[in-house]
Amino acid sequence: MPSAEISPSERLAAVRAAIAHNAGLARRDPADIELIAISKTHPPEAIAPLIAAGQRSFGENRVQEAQAKWPTLKAETADIHLHLVGQLQSNKADDAVALFDAIHSVDRPSLVTALARAIQAQGRAPDCYIQVNIGEEAQKGGCAIADLPALLHTARDAGLPIVGLMAVPPADTEPAPYFALLAKLARNHGLTQLSMGMSGDYETAVLLGATCVRVGSALFGERG
Ligand SMILES: *Cc1c(COP(=O)(O)O)cnc(C)c1O
Repeated sequence: MPSAEISPSERLAAVRAAIAHNAGLARRDPADIELIAISKTHPPEAIAPLIAAGQRSFGENRVQEAQAKWPTLKAETADIHLHLVGQLQSNKADDAVALFDAIHSVDRPSLVTALARAIQAQGRAPDCYIQVNIGEEAQKGGCAIADLPALLHTARDAGLPIVGLMAVPPADTEPAPYFALLAKLARNHGLTQLSMGMSGDYETAVLLGATCVRVGSALFGERG
């Protein structure tokens, strides 16, 4: 757990160094891995030091919270890349398409339809990821592994720009097999982007091919 005396920019440097180190072990270019700072629950005052330290990719898990924080922050810094990593209700699809540059939680046909309609209407197309329930957990978001081919087909038919897959492995288990499975599913479907890895397991995710890692508490400290 990061201690209070460590500054945000030091945390950022440490996470970036760990990404670079593990990319090196896997003979990967660190530039191919996007670090998304997950700023959910944290106020603009906590986000500003990371922006000042050069961080540009951020993620939120709730549309309403993001709408309250990010329009101002985005107006102040031109090249912010904002990701939605939480479950999305279809009736928030318009708001999500208007605000986010990437949506990691496409997991059902009704949401595909709502997003496709919003993209058409706004002429703005965030990168979309299909979230897979990689551990086949009852309570977890994401489409079932067995439903992935059909959902991808629906999304491609609707013109949704699907760039990759996203998953959150089951808690308190070794994540590597789940990351490897997600990578294999992406490969099988011709998808190049892999959104996987959080504070506790992003180094493993980088070894196994993550192209974006979603890191919250390792950058901001524990959420209150
Ligand atoms: C909160 C969250 C994260 C970041 O979690 P940390 O453990 O704080 O790094 C990553 N991905 C998703 C989908 C989240 O909801």
